[in-house]
Amino acid sequence: MAQKLTIAGIAAGVLMTASAALAQGYPERQITMVIPFAAGGPTDTVGRLIAERMSADLGQQVIVENVGGAGGTLGAGQVATAEADGYTVLLHHIGMATAPTLYRNLPFDPVEAFDPVGLVTEVPMTIVARKDLEPADFASLVTYVKENADTITMANAGIGAASHLCGMLFMQALEAPIVTVPYKGTGPAMTELLGGQIDIMCDQTTNTAEQIRGGTIKAYAVTTPARLDIFPDLPTVGEGGFPGLEVSVWHGLYAPKGTPAEAVARLTQSLQTALADPGIAEKLAELGTAPSSAADATPEALKAKLEAEIARWKPVIETAGVYAD
Ligand code: ASP
Repeated sequence: MAQKLTIAGIAAGVLMTASAALAQGYPERQITMVIPFAAGGPTDTVGRLIAERMSADLGQQVIVENVGGAGGTLGAGQVATAEADGYTVLLHHIGMATAPTLYRNLPFDPVEAFDPVGLVTEVPMTIVARKDLEPADFASLVTYVKENADTITMANAGIGAASHLCGMLFMQALEAPIVTVPYKGTGPAMTELLGGQIDIMCDQTTNTAEQIRGGTIKAYAVTTPARLDIFPDLPTVGEGGFPGLEVSVWHGLYAPKGTPAEAVARLTQSLQTALADPGIAEKLAELGTAPSSAADATPEALKAKLEAEIARWKPVIETAGVYAD
């Protein structure tokens, strides 16, 4: 018995030495940050901001790889099975919490397949349209959508995306089954909205703020309980009579399950450093949001948020009866 304990002790010692060595040298090469949506969209915007600042802090490049498709589940699935060595991370959003209900055959468990690193930011959404869409305000949009539900088109980033979730709530609230058009992310969807090929979309301010400001798209409402400082004239969905449309898109950073604890701790520290950068706070403020606090940019806070949001959205999705399979 004593002998066994000694061998176990030696094995544990070897393991500790290996992970301590990793901690000292980590990171020794570039890190890939998978964004599960197309380039140019809101998740990509947040990811690239953070990646750039984390690269400076870590002394190694954090390279963004866009793996869009299936509402973010393709990219998340890729990271779920990636080597858990600290060199692949995932920046995802609220879709991590809706996917397990929307996709009954999801090949990964968002809670079990990842080591959370920390929350990144929480972004309001806006209900927007091509700039020449007829209705002048949110109340007229509601009437217009109800009357034209079979011809109007609404973009989303696939089932499980935040735009899909918001669109689903919108259709449910208006009892209007609109024609939806999926993209690999709302970056490309915005291009089509600008070109007039799509009528409406619900998307994060990190994608819509600059276009709203420039007057290249029309904004009808914001999905937060209170109006936004950047658009004080834009009513909330609650003011428009639809408080059930309230949804904010929280983003989190994850590593594959089994990533050495020291690497996760270093990533958390680097994420916190990035989020504390005044330049990042300023950029996010222009886009209608703010960085997560140091207390929220932790594995514990992200884990709690993910679990609470899975429980929150399950009954909503089941009531809607919308599934990806
Ligand atoms: N905003 C998108 C969504 O609907 C994703 C993206 O392109 O960032 O979830």
